[in-house]
Amino acid sequence: MMTAHRSVAVALVVAVLAQPSVAQTEGTTETPDVGESPAWIIAIHGGAGSTTRDELSTTAEEQLLADLTAALEAGAALLDAGAPGPAAIEAALKILEDSPHFNAGRGAALDEHGQARHDASIMQGHDLKAGGVAGSSRIKNPIAAARAVMEKTQNVMLHGEGADWFAAEAGLEMADPLYFVTEKRREALLEQRAKNRDAETVANPYNEATYGTVGAVVLDRDGNVSAGTTTGGRTNKRYGRIGDTPIIGAGTYASNTSCAVSATGHGEYFMRWTVARDICARVEFAGESLEEASRQLIIDTLLPQGGTGGVVALDPSGNVVFVMTTANLKRGVMSSSTPARVAVYSDEPIK
Ligand code: ASP
Repeated sequence: MMTAHRSVAVALVVAVLAQPSVAQTEGTTETPDVGESPAWIIAIHGGAGSTTRDELSTTAEEQLLADLTAALEAGAALLDAGAPGPAAIEAALKILEDSPHFNAGRGAALDEHGQARHDASIMQGHDLKAGGVAGSSRIKNPIAAARAVMEKTQNVMLHGEGADWFAAEAGLEMADPLYFVTEKRREALLEQRAKNRDAETVANPYNEATYGTVGAVVLDRDGNVSAGTTTGGRTNKRYGRIGDTPIIGAGTYASNTSCAVSATGHGEYFMRWTVARDICARVEFAGESLEEASRQLIIDTLLPQGGTGGVVALDPSGNVVFVMTTANLKRGVMSSSTPARVAVYSDEPIK
């Protein structure tokens, strides 16, 4: 089943690449091997970015790879023990939120007022339940709050002070807003403030300082898929700006009838093209493979419009794909039959 799926995808990709279009040859698609019929899979990303190999120190790269590996292993331990996908997603993404090296939780990008305001969401594929928080500023782990919204309320999204209030009431760990602020992000804010926000977006749509998000997709032992994403958004974002990450169907989507997707990139584009839902709809209604559907959205549709970034996606048959149109997409994958493998740059495979 999986092999047949792959060969259709390969044929379609060859057909797409054969057409003379610059946009279609830019961007990378990676379908990591997760073994034959694995009992569970976790695939994560740590944000799309423009930093190339020459611009990032080996130490910095090693820190990213170590954090990604720790996140995979934390999620995998739960999946192996039979936990549901959202529990594994929360465990994995909490590690990346707690690390100052990713744009989520501590070390999140700062808005124009110098504050970290977090967006996060989670969705489970067997009953389409979903939860999210937008613009929270005191929840230590926004992904945990997104899961609590999904599991403890009848709502899908809470925002701002309401989200903070709910998380405190739910007994989640809270933090002083200063806990999230790192020196690196302060410097990035000062740099961005010196530029014109809108001109910068047009001239340099995927500046490392302005983006970077973390996300995960999971297939659990019950055969259910789920997805989660958490971010600080973009540096110097307008006060009150909400990106694609907390929006179900834009930055996150999961359904057992198609696939699970977590996105990272220029949020406004992912919102306007409802990327995560569209990928799954193509799989479900157009019969496209996961790889072809993801490629269609990220490389063939968004990129020509100027929207860059990437996704990690997974389907109930166990196919996994990373698609990226940026120099790097911090990422990793692990399954019941394959060890944790990670990568930073788009021109290298996970290993
Ligand atoms: N998509 C996020 C946003 O626009 C940023 C990112 O993924 O890097 O808020």
